[in-house]
Amino acid sequence: MQELLSSLNILSQNNGTSTGLNSWGETSNLLESYSPVDGKLIAKVSQTTLDDYLKVIATASEAFKYWRNVPAPRRGEIVRQMAEAFREHKSALGQLVSYEMGKSLQEGLGEVQEIIDICDFAVGLSRQLYGLSMHSERPAHRMYEQWHPLGIVGIISAFNFPVAVWSWNAMLAWVCGDVCIWKPSEKTPLTAIACQNIIQKVLKNNNLPEGLSCLISGDYKVGEWLVGDKKIALISATGSTRMGKAVGEKVASRMGRSLLELGGNNAIIISEHADLNIAIPAVVFGAVGTAGQRCTSTRRLIVHEAVYENVKEKLVKAYGQLKIGNPLDEQNHVGPVIDKKAVIAYVSAAHEVREEGGTMLIPEKILEGKAFESGCYVNPCIAEVNADFKIVKQETFAPILYLMKYKTLDEAIEIQNNVPQGLSSAIFTLNLREAEQFLSAQGSDCGIANVNIGTSGAEIGGAFGGEKETGGGRESGSDAWKSYMRRQTNTINYGSQLPLAQGIKFDI
Ligand code: NAD
Repeated sequence: MQELLSSLNILSQNNGTSTGLNSWGETSNLLESYSPVDGKLIAKVSQTTLDDYLKVIATASEAFKYWRNVPAPRRGEIVRQMAEAFREHKSALGQLVSYEMGKSLQEGLGEVQEIIDICDFAVGLSRQLYGLSMHSERPAHRMYEQWHPLGIVGIISAFNFPVAVWSWNAMLAWVCGDVCIWKPSEKTPLTAIACQNIIQKVLKNNNLPEGLSCLISGDYKVGEWLVGDKKIALISATGSTRMGKAVGEKVASRMGRSLLELGGNNAIIISEHADLNIAIPAVVFGAVGTAGQRCTSTRRLIVHEAVYENVKEKLVKAYGQLKIGNPLDEQNHVGPVIDKKAVIAYVSAAHEVREEGGTMLIPEKILEGKAFESGCYVNPCIAEVNADFKIVKQETFAPILYLMKYKTLDEAIEIQNNVPQGLSSAIFTLNLREAEQFLSAQGSDCGIANVNIGTSGAEIGGAFGGEKETGGGRESGSDAWKSYMRRQTNTINYGSQLPLAQGIKFDI
């Protein structure tokens, strides 16, 4: 581990990077980062004080004054260099993501790949920040719109995607001409420091102000400074719906902009016309991958009554083959959940299933003994439930899959939509009418709706996000960049008359 931290330049760092805030190894006000893999303390990180925070804001504000004037394609060139730097550090950073967060090594490396991919996307975007031009109703007038940089973007991120989600925001924000202040999850501070170090080297090599990329460390209290600060033009917050409600209200009260990416309660519908050879692996990966801690994890499975028993049998068999253990060992399918609080939430959800009258088909179990010393390894479970159970309508961030039956597709869609969240959804069917109904206006109400692929994971090219209590924000691909810019409509009169709009006369 020492070697890994050293290769990412975060070993015994005492001066902090960039803004001097993420200093490491001091004696007070420390945030401790424990690995859920083996329960060991990886490092202690200084938390940002209010004084530090004010310095960061001043540094970022100055950097913005410079960066907004740099031509967008040139900003893209800097992001291209960042992609190169992440390619160089992919292996070490991927391992750290896996060790600090507990996801599999493949997924840790996959997160770094997502950073590289969004960098590439942003580089292309830097030459395509297009506005429309319109025909004016007045003679000798020209009308068009342009997109300007917004200002300081505050990025608050969750533990489960400790680096990818930050990059979705930061890379777009940078090509848009904004500067960023990142408040990562207090559960994964080290991966953030590693990213900050990689970025700062690129900035330094290009003589760019360090305030372009700022990092502040701490829990929700540090996040609240950002959220309440009028100097932050956009707050992009990823995390629980509880957090999003608090953040959304506070930002709205100061008339700021927020982009919220919150909890999901994602369902797969398996129709009687499904190809079970692809449906079953999709469900298992979606439900147990990242130990059920993806915002897009499959939590509910809505199965047609004609294939219900068959699906149930296949799932139980597949779950019986799962290997649980150290996520850095590629033989294992399921790693730990993030901490003991998550284990408690998992156990109490199983209890609630029973209290509401459901059956634990594969019951909850906390694994003990050698290799499970962190106390964070749990058995993925399956519960047979009624769609109306209270527990089924909540997001429990753990590997619990709720199984339910349906008769008609209308009923299945009704069940799928009848939860407060609206992030990801999928149907498995080979029937064209069913697939099209699911994707139509009377179909899934989620931000993501898939056919014959599961709910979990997404490519960076599409806009990512969800409806209802998932917050309504969109990040990453498509035209999500517009959230990071301000739109301006311009009208230019190149004639010698002053005609008023709508033919109004004003004679003086
Ligand atoms: P969390 O809500 O506990 O914390 C997320 C972040 O918000 C942390 O950095 C935390 O310090 C900060 N925070 C919490 N309260 C705050 C407040 N009042 N003001 C400012 N900052 C505050 O979430 P978590 O446990 O880290 O992550 C899991 C949750 O994130 C799940 O609900 C998951 O679905 C969601 N998530 C959503 C997406 C998405 O794109 N929709 C992606 C990843 C995770």
